[in-house]
Amino acid sequence: MERILAAGCIVKSPGISDSTPVMQQVKSAGIEICSEIEFGYRYKGSGKIIAITGSNGKSTTTMLTFHLLKEAGYDTALVGNIGLSFARQLAEQPADWYVMEVSSFQLDDIHWFRPDIAVLLNITPDHLDRYDNRMENYIAAKFRITENQTTSDFLILNQDDPVIGQYLATHSFHAKKIFITMSEQHTTDDGGYIHNERMYLQYGGEEMSTSIHDLSIKGKHNQYNSMAAGISARIAGIRREKIRESFTTFEGMEHRLEYVATIRGVHFINDSKATNINSVWYALEDMKHPTILILGGQDKGNDYSELTALVQEKVKAIICLGVDNTAIHEAFSAIVPNIIDTETAKEAVLAAYALAEKGDTVLLSPGCASFDRFKNFEDRGKQFKEAVNEL
Ligand code: ADP
Repeated sequence: MERILAAGCIVKSPGISDSTPVMQQVKSAGIEICSEIEFGYRYKGSGKIIAITGSNGKSTTTMLTFHLLKEAGYDTALVGNIGLSFARQLAEQPADWYVMEVSSFQLDDIHWFRPDIAVLLNITPDHLDRYDNRMENYIAAKFRITENQTTSDFLILNQDDPVIGQYLATHSFHAKKIFITMSEQHTTDDGGYIHNERMYLQYGGEEMSTSIHDLSIKGKHNQYNSMAAGISARIAGIRREKIRESFTTFEGMEHRLEYVATIRGVHFINDSKATNINSVWYALEDMKHPTILILGGQDKGNDYSELTALVQEKVKAIICLGVDNTAIHEAFSAIVPNIIDTETAKEAVLAAYALAEKGDTVLLSPGCASFDRFKNFEDRGKQFKEAVNEL
């Protein structure tokens, strides 16, 4: 503690909460605290930053944006929550464009951090335990991504997100706002929208469009992610033809609606990264066949009622994979005839397979953190895939 308190500035890992005794002492000693992206920002030189935040879709959108820039031949680096830390990248291999995944925790300790392009994908309840269980604190943390932006910067926002909409109605920003939406009545000049199964991106008086079937990543949520990445790439100056082509070659990400295998006509999908209810909602929304849902884990205070309509429509059985599955039973026992408790990924896969008929889908989309039974969500997804491949 003595050594910590001797520091001039403390670069805090986003994993450490302000309420820990160490941070309380640091605060009362008046030492400057900054997040790693803030620290890096001070040394970034002329490099430009595309910073991507939101409750869901950060990694996918960051990877896709990076892919679009890289395929266009840009000198670019992937930093933040995925890839190297910003500071290490700057120190070892500076680039012209940094594509950065930013969590709300990293935004908590910024001072001057100012991305050239900021993306705010969506805001749904998550990590509220770190924000005194107050949604308004979490929302404000997310919007800090734009607090230092000026009129020459861009802020890409999801027009369909009610939380974002409400915040915009009562706050103003310097950055140029660009909206993405599923709605066909897109009104602003620059932005992205979906119409007749085509995705349209407008920027600088030029429009490009691509069939949603040509996007390599599927589902409505990925259409939002693709619009955000595509508009960012247009702002960065990438040609429309190149963007269209690169949309088709993006490989998607492990553990995010990842197709695993089809065994005796039963499809298996690994969405282990779905650690909150909103991501389960999008996974179910995308299901085309009767679904057996593997759900549960370490619950962060989920409101399962948001899933009721989709579960009623698509889910024939639920396999619980948490230590405590009470909330799941309570939420769904009236509408799902089969709810089974299991203790391991293998048991869950076997139980799901036993109930599945040809043409069904088994979907691992737990809506919870994994730490009660697994090392992390990757471990959970890997064990699921191993069990499927052993069938
Ligand atoms: P993050 O980095 O924000 O956690 P990921 O890209 O890793 O986001 O995706 C996490 C989960 O959320 C996955 O289950 C994925 O299918 C789902 N998802 C991805 N994009 C979105 C989105 N735009 N809206 C809602 N859910 C999404």
